[in-house]
Amino acid sequence: MIEPEARRVAKTVLVVEDNDLNLRFFCDLLAAHDYRPVPVQDGRDAVARARSIRPDLIVMDIQLPHVSGLELIEAIRGDAHLAAIPIMAVTAYAAKGDEERIRLAGVDAYISKPVTVTRFLGAVQGLIGAAA
Ligand code: MN
Repeated sequence: MIEPEARRVAKTVLVVEDNDLNLRFFCDLLAAHDYRPVPVQDGRDAVARARSIRPDLIVMDIQLPHVSGLELIEAIRGDAHLAAIPIMAVTAYAAKGDEERIRLAGVDAYISKPVTVTRFLGAVQGLIGAAA
């Protein structure tokens, strides 16, 4: 018995964010729009999780304890298995120089905090399309 609806696999989004409230906000928003969010609160786990789940998109907070989002972006871009995955940077930094550094590291989209629902979903859809 074939059930096309059940076979459809949701687009997976790895969300790397140390702040509890932001992490929940991003994940709830993605789930509400039929994406499958995978939360990662400790940036040191991000690359290994990305390798194991091969997400369709990575949402990357830049300000993290232990390791910066910028370092993680460089590690992802340097990994042959992960290099092609779109990355959306989310950061509280607003300075032009910071945005430039983040873009040069190879991100596909950049949004600054505070993040609005419209801008967040617009950027996600711009990179990987609607969920269904
Ligand atoms: Mn943070």
